[in-house]
Amino acid sequence: MFFLPFFGHGHLIPIIDTAKLFTARGVKATIVTTPRNVPSISETHSMKIDILIIKFPAIEAGLPEGCENIDSVNSPEMVSKFIKATKMLQQPFEQLLQDYHPSCLVADVCFPWATDVATKFGIPRLVFHATSFFTVSIGHSVTLHEPHKKVLCDSEPFVIPNLPGEIKLTRMQLPHFTLQEVEIEYSEWLKEAMESRLRSYGVVVNSFYELEMAYVDHYKKFWGRKAWHIGPVSLCNKDTEDKAKRGKEASIDEHECLKWLSTKKPNSVVYICFGSTTNFSDSQLLEIAMGLEASRQQFIWVVRKVKNDEKEEEDWLPKGFEKSMEGKGLIIRGWAPQVLILDHEAVGGFVTHCGWNSTLEGVTAGVPIVTWPMGAEQFYNEKLVTQVLKIGVGVGAQQTVVVGDSIKSKVVEKAVRRIMVGEEAEEMRGRAKALGEMAKNAVEEGGSSYSSLNALIEELRSSQCCP
Ligand code: UDP
Repeated sequence: MFFLPFFGHGHLIPIIDTAKLFTARGVKATIVTTPRNVPSISETHSMKIDILIIKFPAIEAGLPEGCENIDSVNSPEMVSKFIKATKMLQQPFEQLLQDYHPSCLVADVCFPWATDVATKFGIPRLVFHATSFFTVSIGHSVTLHEPHKKVLCDSEPFVIPNLPGEIKLTRMQLPHFTLQEVEIEYSEWLKEAMESRLRSYGVVVNSFYELEMAYVDHYKKFWGRKAWHIGPVSLCNKDTEDKAKRGKEASIDEHECLKWLSTKKPNSVVYICFGSTTNFSDSQLLEIAMGLEASRQQFIWVVRKVKNDEKEEEDWLPKGFEKSMEGKGLIIRGWAPQVLILDHEAVGGFVTHCGWNSTLEGVTAGVPIVTWPMGAEQFYNEKLVTQVLKIGVGVGAQQTVVVGDSIKSKVVEKAVRRIMVGEEAEEMRGRAKALGEMAKNAVEEGGSSYSSLNALIEELRSSQCCP
């Protein structure tokens, strides 16, 4: 089988895990990617997965050379060019299919052209979703019914049509809110993705049935599409090294990290991380630091910054912050071994931007969540966490932003305390722990995700896709 992940860590990481799951069932898996994304794949351990490389047409699409991952895309114009570059990959990808004759293609939803290409070569195309059924269903509904065009202003809530549970959103929380200049192109692309998904063989989703039964059933019934829930895929990483090596080399030695955590009591540390692409202003980081200190909770905080050795103090931290927090708070600059940290019993809460992988990893770890969405489909995931699952509280983020800068330290302090201490926290923790157990059971032999993956492989085998 060929796997074609989109070029962002939130897409690459779960597709690699998915390829591992197929490999473990005896399927030969090959991941196709571009040169600069290879390290993210080869970094992951104990794999028998082949990698094929195609050139990313950055220059041709008007991007700087080497811009091959959305973590280096930082403006709406660049998003547009990035989409253009991914469209240009169709031809070289077709050449690979011609040369290698795979029996099936699992391509990220971000490649609308993949369905036609698979059809041309007579093989099934499965759409890979780095998100939930709940969120896919909202996306479909918004694209189809355009409820956001029927309200008078950006902050007026509207109900998502044809979706169980009265889910309300505002225009400011939609993925394309900051993309007005390129909105038409972006909307077109979303439409193409939806159409291509509806013409594909089916969808593979990193989720599990017990988490969102109503929405799995809704998706299958309403859209009449084949779908397989095979997650949480992160659980295929069993040992410390596999967990620590997901995506990028961690900026902290995993053993050092575990040693720090092992000195803490269960549920006494809050973990704060905002995924692989979010950006905050220095003043916002300062507010977070002050909020954490005031919450009087122990923490591990991941910041996408490198240490400036020239300066004794950093502008985004209060004076003497790290010294005064020694033993109590740990800042990781760069990349954290997230799953390893979340899985540790000392961790009792998670502040996240609600990227789907992080959200599901938090659910799997059984911890209450502070939701701090910033864009993409993160506001949808927030609704799942706070309104449907009731395992988290919102920090109060109101709109899609390019750079986060509006939440005050008092609000951070309050939100962190709400998930860490008190009756409400315990109730949320109880629900989260139960979901965490269900997640683990889902991927065990006989579990819902295990069986779903088996059924998919059986179906592909019987249609002679997989030998
Ligand atoms: N991640 C990690 N360490 C970090 C930041 C992120 O391991 O320091 C992983 C995280 O575990 C998740 C992925 O990167 O699997 C981020 O995906 P998500 O969908 O949460 O957010 P995105 O980066 O796509 O916004």
